[in-house]
Amino acid sequence: MDNILEIRNLRKDFGEFTLKDISFSLERGYVMGFIGPNGAGKSTTIKLIMNLIRRDAGEIKVFGLDNRKYELKVKERIGFVYDESHYYEELTINEMKRIIAPFYRQWDDNMFNRYIREFGLQPDKKIKNLSKGMKMKFSLAAALSHNADLIIMDEPTSGLDPVFRNEILDIMRDLLQDENKGVLFSTHITTDLDKVADYITFIHNGELVLTGSKESINEKYGIVKGSQELLDGDTRKEFLGIRETGFGFEALTGNVDRVRKLFADSVIIERPSLEDIMLYTVRGSANA
Ligand code: ADP
Ligand code: MG
Repeated sequence: MDNILEIRNLRKDFGEFTLKDISFSLERGYVMGFIGPNGAGKSTTIKLIMNLIRRDAGEIKVFGLDNRKYELKVKERIGFVYDESHYYEELTINEMKRIIAPFYRQWDDNMFNRYIREFGLQPDKKIKNLSKGMKMKFSLAAALSHNADLIIMDEPTSGLDPVFRNEILDIMRDLLQDENKGVLFSTHITTDLDKVADYITFIHNGELVLTGSKESINEKYGIVKGSQELLDGDTRKEFLGIRETGFGFEALTGNVDRVRKLFADSVIIERPSLEDIMLYTVRGSANA
Protein backbone atom coordinates (compact mmCIF):
# COMPACT_ATOMS: atom_id res chain seq x y z
CA MET A 1 0.00 0.00 0.00
CA ASP A 2 1.17 3.46 -0.90
CA ASN A 3 0.00 5.72 1.90
CA ILE A 4 0.41 9.42 1.28
CA LEU A 5 -0.91 10.24 4.73
CA GLU A 6 -0.52 8.18 7.86
CA ILE A 7 -1.67 9.28 11.28
CA ARG A 8 -0.96 7.14 14.34
CA ASN A 9 -2.24 7.75 17.87
CA LEU A 10 -2.33 11.48 17.41
CA ARG A 11 -3.00 13.52 20.53
CA LYS A 12 -3.46 17.20 21.25
CA ASP A 13 -4.55 18.44 24.65
CA PHE A 14 -6.17 21.90 24.84
CA GLY A 15 -7.35 21.37 28.42
CA GLU A 16 -11.05 21.86 27.73
CA PHE A 17 -10.79 19.65 24.68
CA THR A 18 -8.50 16.74 23.86
CA LEU A 19 -7.94 15.09 20.53
CA LYS A 20 -7.23 11.50 21.55
CA ASP A 21 -5.62 8.59 19.84
CA ILE A 22 -6.58 9.47 16.29
CA SER A 23 -5.31 6.99 13.70
CA PHE A 24 -6.12 6.75 10.01
CA SER A 25 -4.39 6.60 6.68
CA LEU A 26 -5.03 7.73 3.13
CA GLU A 27 -3.81 5.90 0.06
CA ARG A 28 -2.64 7.63 -3.06
CA GLY A 29 -5.41 8.19 -5.60
CA TYR A 30 -8.36 8.40 -3.20
CA VAL A 31 -10.59 10.96 -1.54
CA MET A 32 -11.11 10.73 2.18
CA GLY A 33 -14.05 12.51 3.69
CA PHE A 34 -13.18 13.68 7.17
CA ILE A 35 -16.45 14.17 9.02
CA GLY A 36 -17.71 15.09 12.43
CA PRO A 37 -20.01 17.70 13.95
CA ASN A 38 -18.77 21.20 14.77
CA GLY A 39 -16.16 21.03 17.50
CA ALA A 40 -15.26 17.38 16.81
CA GLY A 41 -11.59 18.18 16.22
CA LYS A 42 -11.37 18.21 12.41
CA SER A 43 -9.57 21.55 12.08
CA THR A 44 -7.29 20.64 14.97
CA THR A 45 -6.28 17.43 13.19
CA ILE A 46 -5.66 19.31 9.96
CA LYS A 47 -3.62 21.99 11.71
CA LEU A 48 -1.52 19.23 13.26
CA ILE A 49 -0.92 17.72 9.82
CA MET A 50 0.11 21.14 8.50
CA ASN A 51 2.28 21.63 11.58
CA LEU A 52 0.51 24.88 12.43
CA ILE A 53 0.13 23.62 16.00
CA ARG A 54 2.30 21.15 17.93
CA ARG A 55 1.12 17.66 18.67
CA ASP A 56 1.46 16.25 22.18
CA ALA A 57 1.90 12.66 21.06
CA GLY A 58 1.61 10.37 18.07
CA GLU A 59 2.97 10.27 14.59
CA ILE A 60 2.11 12.01 11.34
CA LYS A 61 3.72 10.87 8.10
CA VAL A 62 3.10 12.57 4.78
CA PHE A 63 4.56 10.77 1.75
CA GLY A 64 6.23 8.51 4.30
CA LEU A 65 8.06 11.46 5.90
CA ASP A 66 7.59 12.88 9.38
CA ASN A 67 5.66 16.13 8.96
CA ARG A 68 7.80 18.05 11.44
CA LYS A 69 11.24 16.80 10.53
CA TYR A 70 10.60 17.29 6.81
CA GLU A 71 8.21 20.21 7.08
CA LEU A 72 9.31 22.19 4.02
CA LYS A 73 9.67 19.17 1.78
CA VAL A 74 6.26 17.91 2.82
CA LYS A 75 4.44 21.25 2.52
CA GLU A 76 5.80 21.83 -0.95
CA ARG A 77 3.76 18.84 -2.06
CA ILE A 78 0.54 19.66 -0.21
CA GLY A 79 -2.18 21.86 -1.65
CA PHE A 80 -3.86 23.38 1.38
CA VAL A 81 -7.23 25.07 1.34
CA TYR A 82 -7.93 26.94 4.57
CA ASP A 83 -11.30 27.16 6.24
CA GLU A 84 -11.10 30.92 6.32
CA SER A 85 -9.62 33.49 4.02
CA HIS A 86 -5.97 34.17 4.83
CA TYR A 87 -5.36 36.56 1.95
CA TYR A 88 -4.66 40.28 1.86
CA GLU A 89 -8.07 41.71 1.15
CA GLU A 90 -6.75 44.83 -0.61
CA LEU A 91 -4.83 42.88 -3.25
CA THR A 92 -6.20 41.58 -6.52
CA ILE A 93 -6.21 37.88 -7.39
CA ASN A 94 -3.13 38.32 -9.57
CA GLU A 95 -1.23 40.35 -6.98
CA MET A 96 -1.98 37.77 -4.31
CA LYS A 97 -0.86 35.02 -6.66
CA ARG A 98 2.52 36.74 -7.09
CA ILE A 99 2.99 36.51 -3.34
CA ILE A 100 2.01 32.85 -3.09
CA ALA A 101 3.81 31.49 -6.16
CA PRO A 102 7.44 31.91 -4.98
CA PHE A 103 6.77 29.60 -2.03
CA TYR A 104 6.49 26.67 -4.41
CA ARG A 105 9.30 25.39 -6.60
CA GLN A 106 6.79 23.65 -8.85
CA TRP A 107 4.42 26.59 -9.23
CA ASP A 108 2.72 26.36 -12.64
CA ASP A 109 1.45 29.72 -13.86
CA ASN A 110 -0.31 28.26 -16.89
CA MET A 111 -2.22 25.87 -14.74
CA PHE A 112 -3.19 28.66 -12.35
CA ASN A 113 -4.44 30.82 -15.22
CA ARG A 114 -6.38 27.92 -16.62
CA TYR A 115 -8.16 27.33 -13.31
CA ILE A 116 -8.90 31.04 -12.93
CA ARG A 117 -10.53 31.01 -16.35
CA GLU A 118 -12.38 27.75 -15.73
CA PHE A 119 -13.67 28.96 -12.39
CA GLY A 120 -14.86 32.22 -13.97
CA LEU A 121 -12.64 34.44 -11.79
CA GLN A 122 -11.37 37.84 -12.87
CA PRO A 123 -7.63 38.18 -12.13
CA ASP A 124 -7.81 41.95 -11.55
CA LYS A 125 -10.59 41.76 -9.00
CA LYS A 126 -9.74 42.60 -5.41
CA ILE A 127 -9.98 39.77 -2.88
CA LYS A 128 -12.29 41.84 -0.70
CA ASN A 129 -14.79 42.06 -3.55
CA LEU A 130 -15.01 38.30 -4.01
CA SER A 131 -17.94 36.33 -2.65
CA LYS A 132 -17.24 33.48 -0.26
CA GLY A 133 -17.65 30.98 -3.08
CA MET A 134 -15.25 32.90 -5.32
CA LYS A 135 -12.67 33.13 -2.55
CA MET A 136 -12.94 29.38 -2.14
CA LYS A 137 -12.37 28.93 -5.86
CA PHE A 138 -9.33 31.18 -5.77
CA SER A 139 -8.00 29.23 -2.81
CA LEU A 140 -8.60 26.01 -4.69
CA ALA A 141 -6.90 27.33 -7.85
CA ALA A 142 -3.83 28.23 -5.80
CA ALA A 143 -3.80 24.84 -4.06
CA LEU A 144 -4.00 23.03 -7.38
CA SER A 145 -1.32 25.00 -9.21
CA HIS A 146 1.90 23.65 -7.76
CA ASN A 147 1.68 19.98 -8.61
CA ALA A 148 0.71 18.96 -5.12
CA ASP A 149 0.21 15.23 -4.52
CA LEU A 150 -1.97 15.68 -1.47
CA ILE A 151 -4.81 18.17 -1.32
CA ILE A 152 -6.08 19.06 2.15
CA MET A 153 -9.26 21.08 2.44
CA ASP A 154 -10.87 22.18 5.66
CA GLU A 155 -14.62 22.58 5.16
CA PRO A 156 -14.34 23.97 1.61
CA THR A 157 -18.09 23.75 1.08
CA SER A 158 -19.39 25.16 4.36
CA GLY A 159 -21.29 28.40 3.96
CA LEU A 160 -21.53 28.02 0.19
CA ASP A 161 -24.82 27.95 -1.66
CA PRO A 162 -25.80 24.65 -3.35
CA VAL A 163 -24.65 25.82 -6.79
CA PHE A 164 -21.12 26.68 -5.62
CA ARG A 165 -21.02 23.56 -3.47
CA ASN A 166 -21.79 21.37 -6.42
CA GLU A 167 -19.19 23.14 -8.52
CA ILE A 168 -16.55 22.57 -5.86
CA LEU A 169 -17.51 18.90 -5.61
CA ASP A 170 -17.32 18.51 -9.40
CA ILE A 171 -13.88 20.07 -9.41
CA MET A 172 -12.78 17.61 -6.76
CA ARG A 173 -14.10 14.69 -8.72
CA ASP A 174 -12.31 15.84 -11.87
CA LEU A 175 -9.15 16.34 -9.92
CA LEU A 176 -9.20 12.74 -8.86
CA GLN A 177 -9.13 11.61 -12.45
CA ASP A 178 -5.46 12.11 -11.75
CA GLU A 179 -4.82 8.93 -9.88
CA ASN A 180 -1.66 10.09 -8.24
CA LYS A 181 -3.30 12.61 -6.00
CA GLY A 182 -5.00 12.09 -2.70
CA VAL A 183 -7.54 14.37 -1.08
CA LEU A 184 -8.42 14.86 2.57
CA PHE A 185 -11.62 16.81 2.72
CA SER A 186 -13.23 17.80 5.99
CA THR A 187 -16.90 18.66 6.20
CA HIS A 188 -19.85 18.49 8.52
CA ILE A 189 -22.17 18.19 5.50
CA THR A 190 -22.18 14.44 4.96
CA THR A 191 -24.11 14.58 1.69
CA ASP A 192 -21.03 16.23 0.14
CA LEU A 193 -19.33 12.89 0.42
CA ASP A 194 -21.91 10.76 -1.36
CA LYS A 195 -20.51 12.03 -4.64
CA VAL A 196 -16.78 12.17 -4.09
CA ALA A 197 -15.42 10.20 -1.16
CA ASP A 198 -13.92 6.70 -1.32
CA TYR A 199 -12.98 6.57 2.34
CA ILE A 200 -14.56 8.07 5.42
CA THR A 201 -13.02 9.00 8.73
CA PHE A 202 -15.48 10.12 11.35
CA ILE A 203 -14.45 11.76 14.61
CA HIS A 204 -16.57 12.97 17.49
CA ASN A 205 -15.54 14.69 20.74
CA GLY A 206 -11.89 14.33 19.73
CA GLU A 207 -12.18 10.58 19.30
CA LEU A 208 -12.18 8.33 16.29
CA VAL A 209 -15.59 6.76 15.65
CA LEU A 210 -14.79 4.98 12.42
CA THR A 211 -12.41 4.97 9.51
CA GLY A 212 -12.67 2.83 6.41
CA SER A 213 -13.76 2.56 2.81
CA LYS A 214 -17.33 3.50 2.02
CA GLU A 215 -17.97 -0.11 1.01
CA SER A 216 -16.73 -1.52 4.28
CA ILE A 217 -18.92 0.95 6.15
CA ASN A 218 -21.90 -0.07 4.05
CA GLU A 219 -21.26 -3.71 4.88
CA LYS A 220 -20.92 -3.21 8.63
CA TYR A 221 -23.43 -0.52 9.50
CA GLY A 222 -27.18 -0.81 9.37
CA ILE A 223 -30.36 0.86 10.55
CA VAL A 224 -32.37 -1.74 12.42
CA LYS A 225 -36.14 -1.37 12.72
CA GLY A 226 -38.21 -3.50 15.02
CA SER A 227 -40.93 -3.54 17.65
CA GLN A 228 -40.47 -2.15 21.11
CA GLU A 229 -40.59 -5.49 22.95
CA LEU A 230 -37.33 -6.57 21.31
CA LEU A 231 -35.49 -3.93 23.34
CA ASP A 232 -34.23 -4.88 26.76
CA GLY A 233 -31.13 -4.16 28.80
CA ASP A 234 -29.10 -6.66 26.80
CA THR A 235 -30.28 -5.95 23.30
CA ARG A 236 -29.88 -2.19 23.82
CA LYS A 237 -26.17 -2.70 24.26
CA GLU A 238 -25.94 -4.01 20.70
CA PHE A 239 -26.66 -0.58 19.27
CA LEU A 240 -24.64 2.59 18.80
CA GLY A 241 -27.74 4.75 19.04
CA ILE A 242 -31.45 4.10 19.42
CA ARG A 243 -34.55 6.10 18.54
CA GLU A 244 -37.80 4.95 20.07
CA THR A 245 -41.10 5.94 18.52
CA GLY A 246 -43.65 4.42 20.89
CA PHE A 247 -44.61 1.76 18.37
CA GLY A 248 -41.14 0.51 17.82
CA PHE A 249 -37.50 1.45 17.56
CA GLU A 250 -34.93 2.39 14.98
CA ALA A 251 -31.30 1.87 15.88
CA LEU A 252 -27.84 2.01 14.38
CA THR A 253 -25.60 -1.04 14.47
CA GLY A 254 -21.95 -1.27 13.52
CA ASN A 255 -22.26 -5.03 13.15
CA VAL A 256 -25.03 -6.00 10.76
CA ASP A 257 -24.08 -9.70 10.75
CA ARG A 258 -24.43 -9.99 14.49
CA VAL A 259 -27.80 -8.21 14.53
CA ARG A 260 -29.05 -10.58 11.82
CA LYS A 261 -28.05 -13.56 13.95
CA LEU A 262 -29.60 -12.13 17.11
CA PHE A 263 -32.90 -10.95 15.73
CA ALA A 264 -33.28 -13.03 12.57
CA ASP A 265 -36.44 -12.01 10.71
CA SER A 266 -38.00 -10.04 13.54
CA VAL A 267 -36.27 -6.84 12.41
CA ILE A 268 -35.80 -4.97 9.17
CA ILE A 269 -32.27 -3.82 8.38
CA GLU A 270 -31.69 -0.93 6.04
CA ARG A 271 -28.57 0.71 4.70
CA PRO A 272 -27.75 3.90 6.64
CA SER A 273 -26.65 7.13 5.04
CA LEU A 274 -23.54 8.82 6.43
CA GLU A 275 -25.94 11.33 7.92
CA ASP A 276 -27.69 8.50 9.82
CA ILE A 277 -24.39 7.19 11.11
CA MET A 278 -23.35 10.63 12.29
CA LEU A 279 -26.69 11.53 13.89
CA TYR A 280 -27.19 8.22 15.71
CA THR A 281 -23.63 8.15 16.97
CA VAL A 282 -23.65 11.73 18.16
CA ARG A 283 -27.03 11.38 19.83
CA GLY A 284 -26.22 7.93 21.19
CA SER A 285 -23.18 9.20 23.02
CA ALA A 286 -25.02 12.28 24.26
CA ASN A 287 -27.59 9.99 25.93
CA ALA A 288 -24.98 7.75 27.49
P1 ADP B 1 -14.00 21.20 14.15
O1 ADP B 1 -13.04 21.71 13.12
O2 ADP B 1 -14.28 19.73 14.03
O3 ADP B 1 -15.28 21.97 14.19
P2 ADP B 1 -11.97 22.13 16.01
O4 ADP B 1 -10.81 21.22 15.75
O5 ADP B 1 -11.89 23.48 15.40
O6 ADP B 1 -13.33 21.38 15.59
O7 ADP B 1 -12.16 22.33 17.55
C1 ADP B 1 -12.25 21.26 18.46
C2 ADP B 1 -12.28 21.79 19.87
O8 ADP B 1 -10.98 22.30 20.19
C3 ADP B 1 -13.26 22.92 20.09
O9 ADP B 1 -13.90 22.69 21.32
C4 ADP B 1 -12.39 24.15 20.15
O10 ADP B 1 -12.95 25.11 20.99
C5 ADP B 1 -11.10 23.62 20.72
N1 ADP B 1 -9.91 24.38 20.28
C6 ADP B 1 -9.49 24.55 19.00
N2 ADP B 1 -8.38 25.29 18.95
C7 ADP B 1 -8.07 25.62 20.24
C8 ADP B 1 -7.02 26.37 20.87
N3 ADP B 1 -6.05 26.94 20.14
N4 ADP B 1 -7.05 26.48 22.21
C9 ADP B 1 -8.00 25.89 22.95
N5 ADP B 1 -9.02 25.17 22.42
C10 ADP B 1 -9.06 25.03 21.09
MG1 MG C 1 -13.26 23.22 11.66
